[in-house]
Amino acid sequence: MVQRPKVLRTLPALRRSLARCRAAGETVALVPTMGALHEGHLSLVRLARRKSARVVVSIFVNPAQFAPAEDLATYPRTFAADLAALAREKADLVWAPESVAVMYPEGFSTRVAPGGPATVGLEDAYRPHFFGGVATVVAKLFIQALPDVAVFGEKDYQQLKVVTRMARDLDIPVRVIGAPTVREADGLAMSSRNVYLSPAERALAPTLHRVLVDCAARIAGGRPVKATLARGRDTIARAGFRLDYLEARHADTLEPVRSTRDGPVRLLVAAWLGKTRLIDNVGVG
Ligand code: AMP
Repeated sequence: MVQRPKVLRTLPALRRSLARCRAAGETVALVPTMGALHEGHLSLVRLARRKSARVVVSIFVNPAQFAPAEDLATYPRTFAADLAALAREKADLVWAPESVAVMYPEGFSTRVAPGGPATVGLEDAYRPHFFGGVATVVAKLFIQALPDVAVFGEKDYQQLKVVTRMARDLDIPVRVIGAPTVREADGLAMSSRNVYLSPAERALAPTLHRVLVDCAARIAGGRPVKATLARGRDTIARAGFRLDYLEARHADTLEPVRSTRDGPVRLLVAAWLGKTRLIDNVGVG
């Protein structure tokens, strides 16, 4: 039988466990998640295990990153299955606050406000509450766990850049590492929210990745960015999605780019299928 990871429900319990690791000279990696774990999350755990002696996975559905009309109440919660999967991956600790009040006690009043080019547009244009909520909870997680390394998925590419910048700006001594997006066999990026898709929507969903790959190949082959993206947007809309954005950005700074001469390019997309919002991104070249 595989050993279950130790589940910590309160901050003092987390700190005691981590203090013991550090006293033994062990490095700590943190993998922040909202649970409903899939292969994408588990790939982060595997990477974390390669980078440090101990792996802490946090599971916390963070109300601060959901707008009132979003899916906080219905967000999938599969704690027992998550624990079983983390046991198979040999995660050491699971930081699962016993209540929202553990993270946001009565009177909680501070919010981290990320800025700079990485926060301009894309997700921020459609979910203006989002990065403040993410940066606040991730700053708290970093301060709570004081990890040597933290692993985030490239699936949420803008989030990875915002969190990296936040840690640097606040002098939090953690190395933020990005991990490649894990996909279903048909190319759809794995996401906890994919369970919302109806069978018909699920059949359509991989179109998003196909269009990204097609646009990336065209741009890498010398076609103009603007016209290529216009065509991509059109294909996505005609396939039945409601598009939020399809954009080309500098892969490091996320500043807008007009051509591959402006630096390494990343294509980022967000679009709705019915009530489900999908995001994805790919590199060019
Ligand atoms: P979430 O639980 O959706 O907030 O995601 C927790 C972490 O898992 C984030 O760093 C995500 O970027 C990462 N993640 C989610 N889906 C994937 C995926 N398909 N491939 C790689 N990482 C992912």
